[in-house]
Amino acid sequence: MADGIIGMVSKDSYKGLRKKLDDFLELNNLRKTEERYAIFDRICTFPSYFDIKQLYEQMEFSNFHVSRATLYNSIEIFIASGLLVRHQFGSNTIFFELKLLADKHIYMICTKCGSVMEASRDSLDFNLANLRFRRFTPESYNIYIYGLCSRCRYALRKKLSKEKY
Ligand SMILES: [Zn+2]
Repeated sequence: MADGIIGMVSKDSYKGLRKKLDDFLELNNLRKTEERYAIFDRICTFPSYFDIKQLYEQMEFSNFHVSRATLYNSIEIFIASGLLVRHQFGSNTIFFELKLLADKHIYMICTKCGSVMEASRDSLDFNLANLRFRRFTPESYNIYIYGLCSRCRYALRKKLSKEKY
């Protein structure tokens, strides 16, 4: 892996993530295969969420051939270890994202065309992480905001104004 920034993950963050993965594999008696690390490194190059097809293509692109079964299996491990989160934005496609990155994002989902936009969580002036619940220990959260993207809103306005006259 190259020095410096790996995708959106700094070198120090990457080291921390790798350590967390090592610990999880050891603790659960899972093999530290070359494939698992290669897949994880590839995931660290995505600046945001991705689907299994994109990951598969990136693996092929880097000339590291793995089966889809291996990809799914590794992804399950990364999710179980708390390194990766799963998103379902409304369509049938399931997306994945490093938890490190997902923790910084909120997602705006257009209910008409399904497009997904991201914004920084810093823009929120309240802190969900400080919420306390009875009989429940929160570990992470995602924020999905549903609405209309500007393009769909424009199309809807045009349609409505036509109907008026
Ligand atoms: Zn839209």
